[in-house]
Amino acid sequence: MLNEALGRALAHRRVVRGRSCCTLGWEEPPGALDAVLWPVAASAAELLVSGDDLARVRVCGLYEDGECGWLFVDQTRSHTRRWCSMKDCGNRAKARRHYHRVRGEAP
Ligand SMILES: [Zn+2]
Repeated sequence: MLNEALGRALAHRRVVRGRSCCTLGWEEPPGALDAVLWPVAASAAELLVSGDDLARVRVCGLYEDGECGWLFVDQTRSHTRRWCSMKDCGNRAKARRHYHRVRGEAP
């Protein structure tokens, strides 16, 4: 199943302009309905072959809000990492908690 998803995803892999020159990206604009799954399939496959401890593989905490589907390896000693990236999803979640706290609401 992952290989099928990976095969479909890789058909949409493109070399795109990056900061310095080029980087691997995705077909633009993604017209297909399953476009959101392409990076998920690629990320899952990369994790599986990375040699990292699969028991520590987590899905980003913003997955339940439908905002992020990235997987990551929790390498913290306490095993409490919740976000794929603190710079992006972690900050978004923090800002949301602050907003609800200030308004006196449950997040
Ligand atoms: Zn995320």
